Amino acid sequence: MRSNLQFPIYLDNNATTPVDPRVLEEFLPYYQQHFGNAASRTHAYGWAAAEAVELSRERVARLIGAVPQEIIFTSGATEGVNLAIKGAAEMYSGKGNHIITCETEHKAVIDTCKHLEKKGAEITWLPVDTNGLINLQELEKAIRTDTILLAIMYANNETGVLQPIAEIGQIAKKHGVLFFTDATQAAGKIPVDVQRDGIDLLTLSAHKFYGPKGVGAVYVRRRDPRVKLTPQLDGGGHERGVRSGTLNVPGIVGLGKAAELCLKEMPEESGRLEQLRNRLQDGLLSLPGVVLNGHPVNRLPHTLNLSFPDRDSNSLLLHFNKKIALSAGSACTSATLEPSYVLKAMGFPDQRSYSALRFGLGRFTTEAEIEQVLELFHPNLNSRNFA
Ligand SMILES: *Cc1c(COP(=O)(O)O)cnc(C)c1O
Repeated sequence: MRSNLQFPIYLDNNATTPVDPRVLEEFLPYYQQHFGNAASRTHAYGWAAAEAVELSRERVARLIGAVPQEIIFTSGATEGVNLAIKGAAEMYSGKGNHIITCETEHKAVIDTCKHLEKKGAEITWLPVDTNGLINLQELEKAIRTDTILLAIMYANNETGVLQPIAEIGQIAKKHGVLFFTDATQAAGKIPVDVQRDGIDLLTLSAHKFYGPKGVGAVYVRRRDPRVKLTPQLDGGGHERGVRSGTLNVPGIVGLGKAAELCLKEMPEESGRLEQLRNRLQDGLLSLPGVVLNGHPVNRLPHTLNLSFPDRDSNSLLLHFNKKIALSAGSACTSATLEPSYVLKAMGFPDQRSYSALRFGLGRFTTEAEIEQVLELFHPNLNSRNFA
């Protein structure tokens, strides 16, 4: 065992990431010295908070190629998804009530769509191929005159698979329907640009890119077209009336700093993580029977999802949990013993879904950790002395 390593080695960065010390340093003063309410317009405490919030709005906008006025702060991506989808469904109910989404979306999107379905909306659930990708012809064929929204995620949280976002944006534009993307796994990790990608609505979350938990943002396009959302919380009319509630100033400051660091360090960081991920991938795929889940190329650089045939995910996780922090899929569904619905939608037999592990590398993952993980897997898997 390499003695300078800290165990368990954290490889669950798709579930959440640690706060970057530079982010923590930036937001801590907003709990005490600068504790003001950003809506207090009558004194310096309020002004300082409001100024910090506006700087964060600029930083978040820059990360995704937006302008600051298009950023609405929320409590995270789950709230953002609810606001974007329900808010658009209500605002545009005069045009129709048909939404197109996909079977491998995060639960936040799936359950929001199911909620609307119960209330009378029509939802088209697009399938994916064995690589996890939707079919663009099928998407275009599904669009009707009463379609108001396409809701297709940028990057999948379990497999890292990247949907053809720019092409989806073009199709949406051509047919005059809005395009919402859950970019919670992509933002801060790979270049996301709402102009290039033709995105009208987008959500992201700070804790997936080295910011604090419980804070996120929704991007709402202002021009070409100007998109409006019906608020889902009633109250003081904060955030241009779209999202009432006293702003989480420290969280927002952290989100902004995290966004700034990600944008600056993205080229180097994603290159480094892709190399480490590929090292891990090659090493584990050399074990008998191990297979890759998800498109081999159109994938986040730091994510790896593998199946270990003749094993089951839970016994693998139990076996390794003192040494490696991993998950079988999304944290949100790992409380259940169901096989991953994402892998099921990709057409794999239950056995393949039941034997999957997700490796999520991150900013603080080191080469020594990856070498250690490979050492831990190799003897065990060869000698078949567990699980
Ligand atoms: C984590 C995640 C969410 C939920 O984000 P929260 O900020 O934790 O609510 C939504 N969508 C995807 C793709 C995610 O990975």
